[in-house]
Amino acid sequence: MADVDLNKITPMMRQYIDIKNQNKDTIILFRLGDFYEVFFEDAITVSRELELTLTGRSAGLEERVPMCGVPHHAVNIYIEKLVDRGYRVGICEQLEDPATAKGLVERGLTQIISKGTMTIGESLQENDFNYIGSITDAGNAYAISYMDITTGIIYVTLINHDDSNLVTEIVSLNLKEVIATSDIDKAIISILKNQFKIVISISDDADEETYPYVYEDIKDDRMIHSLKHLLSYITKTQMRTLSHLQKAIIKENKKVLKMDIHTKRNLELTETLRLKQRNYSLIWVLDKTKTAMGARQLKSYVENPLIDIDEINKRYDVVETLMKEFILREDLKNLLYEVYDLERLSGRVAFGNANARDLLQLKSSLKVLPDISVILKAIKYQDIETLENLYHLLDDSIYENPPIGLKEGYLIKEGYNTELDELKSLRKGGKDFVAKFETEERNRTGIKTLKVGYNKVFGYYIEVSKGATSQVKEEYGYERKQTLSNCERYISPILKEKEALILNAEERIIELEYELFTDIRDEVKKYIPKLQQVSKTISEIDVLQSFATIAEENNYIRPTLTDKREIYLKANRHAVVEKVLDSEYVCNDIIMDSSTNIELITGPNMAGKSTYMRQLAITVIMAQIGCFVPAREAILPIFDAIYTRIGASDDLVGGESTFMVEMKEADYAISNATSNSLILFDELGRGTATFDGMALAQSIIEYIHDHIKCKTLFSTHYHELTDLEDTLDGLKNIHVSAKEEDGEITFLHKIEEGSVDKSYGIHVAKLAGLPKRLINRAESILKVYEAKEKKRDIKIQESLPLDDLVMKEPSKVEERLKEIDPMNTTPMEALSLITELKSLLPKQ
Ligand code: ADP
Ligand code: MG
Repeated sequence: MADVDLNKITPMMRQYIDIKNQNKDTIILFRLGDFYEVFFEDAITVSRELELTLTGRSAGLEERVPMCGVPHHAVNIYIEKLVDRGYRVGICEQLEDPATAKGLVERGLTQIISKGTMTIGESLQENDFNYIGSITDAGNAYAISYMDITTGIIYVTLINHDDSNLVTEIVSLNLKEVIATSDIDKAIISILKNQFKIVISISDDADEETYPYVYEDIKDDRMIHSLKHLLSYITKTQMRTLSHLQKAIIKENKKVLKMDIHTKRNLELTETLRLKQRNYSLIWVLDKTKTAMGARQLKSYVENPLIDIDEINKRYDVVETLMKEFILREDLKNLLYEVYDLERLSGRVAFGNANARDLLQLKSSLKVLPDISVILKAIKYQDIETLENLYHLLDDSIYENPPIGLKEGYLIKEGYNTELDELKSLRKGGKDFVAKFETEERNRTGIKTLKVGYNKVFGYYIEVSKGATSQVKEEYGYERKQTLSNCERYISPILKEKEALILNAEERIIELEYELFTDIRDEVKKYIPKLQQVSKTISEIDVLQSFATIAEENNYIRPTLTDKREIYLKANRHAVVEKVLDSEYVCNDIIMDSSTNIELITGPNMAGKSTYMRQLAITVIMAQIGCFVPAREAILPIFDAIYTRIGASDDLVGGESTFMVEMKEADYAISNATSNSLILFDELGRGTATFDGMALAQSIIEYIHDHIKCKTLFSTHYHELTDLEDTLDGLKNIHVSAKEEDGEITFLHKIEEGSVDKSYGIHVAKLAGLPKRLINRAESILKVYEAKEKKRDIKIQESLPLDDLVMKEPSKVEERLKEIDPMNTTPMEALSLITELKSLLPKQ
C-alpha cells in the first residue's frame, strides 16, 4: 500500500487509505453496501486467517488492489475470529445513507475491537473476566490498572519496580491485552507478547479527561495517571460513552492473603497445572453458583482470600444461616437460576448493542428480585432494590418473541404506543382487504384457481393457472406482469393502492419500533448503577449459597479463627483430591501448636507428602475466603501469605534452569514471608547434587526457624535432616507411613510422628511398570550403595552441626603438638615424635 499513487487512485480507495494510515496496526473492515471489505496487505492476511477467497478491486491503478470481503450480517463471526487470533479490528461504517448521500458516502471508524475490548461472542467465557490493562512506569513503582469492559469493573494497583515482578503480575491477573507506555522495557513487552500471547499496544496518551468519576476518590497521582492511560485507550477505541464503567477499586495487596502466580498455579486454584482446565481445580469443587456473576465473583474470592477476621466471620455467619435454613436456600437457588448476567447485560445496554432479547432477559431477571429481596431480609443479608418500575417498563413494552435484529420490527408490544398501534391496524386492514379481495375476485371471475400472492419484485399480484387465463377479461383491469410455466401473474390498480398503504405502514412500523426500542434502552441506561449494585449483592449471595451447598454435600465444618499462632485440624482432607479419588481419602490431622513452626516431612515416594502439604494450603485458602473446610474440627490462624515451592514449575520469565527457578522461589518466599505466613517447600534442593541440596535445605530450614518463625511444611528425602529435631525446638519430624509385608509395600497415606528413612523408589518404579530385569538390577545396585552409605553416613552426621565442629575439643594429636617445643628438640627426638603423632591419628 505504501507505494500507491494517490493521484490515480479512486476517491473511495483514498478514503480507505486515509483511515488505514491513521490506524496502521488495525485491520480496517470497510463497509461497502452489503459487505465489509478489506484491501491490500490486510486482505492477504484476512483471507488467509478466515479462509476467504482473495480477489481484487480496481481502484484506478494499473493492477487491481487485493481484496476480500464478508457479508455485513455475518460480520460478527469474522470479527471474533480475527480478534481471537490477536488482531485489532476497526469497523468503518457508512456514516450517511447511501441513498440520499451526494457524491462519495461519508465513512468513518465507529469502533476498534481487540482481545480486551470484546463484548460479544463465544470466546467470552461467562464464568471468567476479560481484562484489558495498562502498565505505566511510575519511577519507584509500576502502576497497573485493568478493567473488564463487559461489566465495567475497574481496578488499579501499584507494584514493586521489578521487571520479573511486573511480568508475573500481568500473567497472574490474566490480562488479555495490555497498553504499555513507550518507556516500558522492550524485553518485558516481548516476553508478554511472544511467551504469553498477550496483545500489546504502545501508547503514551493519558490526557483524556473522560470518565473523571472513575478516579475521583483516588488520591495517588500515579494511580490516577494509570487510570487515565487506560481510559484514554478505551475512549479512543470504543468511540462512545460507556455509562457502565464503575469507580476504580484500589487493589491493595495488604488487604488480601498474598499468593504469587507460582503458588496459585501450583495449588491449582482455578485451573489444573498440566491441562489448564477448570475441571479438578479448587474452583471446580467450590462452584455451585447459579449465576454467571456468582461464578465470576467466586473466582475473584479464590484469588483474593481475606485477612480480616471479622469479614471472614461475617461470611461464615451467612453460610451457617443458609445451611440451617434449608428451604430458604433452595428457594434462593431457584430464584437465582432465573437471574441472567445482569452485569454483562448492563454493559451491553451501555454499549448500545443490547437487543430486544437482552432486554427480555433483563426483564426475567428483574421479575424475581422482589422474591429474592424477601429471602435476603429473612436471612438478614443486605437487601437489594427491586426495581419494579424498570420491570414494568420492560413488561409493558418489549414484545415476547422478538428477533435478534432491530430493523425487522416485532420489538414492541401492542398497547405501548398509540401511533404504532394505529399503523399496525392500518397494515392489518390492508392485509384483511387483500384476503377479502381474493375471495371477491374468485367469485367475480369464476376462476376457482385464482390466488393473490406477494413478492418483493412485483408486490401483490393475482395468479391465474394456465388453463384459466382465457377467462381473464379486459374489464377486470388486470395487467399481465409475468408468465410462468404453469400460470400467469397480473397486477391490478386497486391491489396496488392497498399495497402502497400496507408497505408504507410496514416501513413506518419498523422505523417507529426501532425508535421506541432505543428510547427504552436509553431509559434502561439510567438504571445501570442500580443494576450494578443489585448484581454485586446477588453475586455475593450466590457465592455464599454455593459455599453452604458444598459444605452440606461434602461435610465441611465452620473453622474457628484464632489470633494465636496455632493450627489444629482434626481429620483434615484435601477438598479436591477427595473428590477425584476412586478410593477413600485418608484424612490426617495437622496440628502445630504456637511453639511448633516447622514440620519436616519424610516418607517414601508416592506416600502422600505433597498431598498433605497442599491439603493444608487449600484448607487455609478455603477458610479465608469464607468457606467451610473439610475437617472434623478446625482452628486456624489468619495467614497473610502463602509461599510455595512445589514440583517442577515452569520458568515464567524464561531461560532459567529448574534449580535456578527453585532457588529464586525460595528466595522470594524467604525475603517476603512474615511470621504470619505459610511456607510450603516440597523437596527443596532436589535440583542439585546431594550435598549441595542437603546443605541448602538445612540452612534454609535453620533460617526460617531462627529468623522468620512462620508455619512451614518442609518435605524432604534427605533423611539426614531429621536430626535437626534435636537442635531446633520449633521443628517437628513427621512421616507418611507405609506398610511392608513380604516384600509388598502398601502406602497408608497416614501421617505419623517421627521420621522414616526408606524411600521405596524402586518399588514405585515397579508399580510404574518398568521391566523386571531392570528392577532386579536396580535392587542389587541399591544394595551396593547402601553398604557404602553406611560408612559415609558417620561422616555426614559429624559434619552436620557446623558450630560443633568449630568448638570441638582438641584432638589428641593437637594436644600433643601443643606440648612440643621445637627449639629444644633434637632431630632424632623429632623423628620419634612423628612416629608417636602418627600413632595418635584416628584409625581409618
Ligand atoms: P509424595 O509427594 O509423597 O510422593 P503424593 O502426595 O504425590 O506423594 O501422593 C501420591 C498419591 O497418593 C496421590 O496422587 C494420591 O492419589 C495418593 N494420596 C496421597 N495422599 C492421600 C490420602 N491422604 N488419601 C488417599 N490417597 C492419597
Ligand atoms: Mg511429592
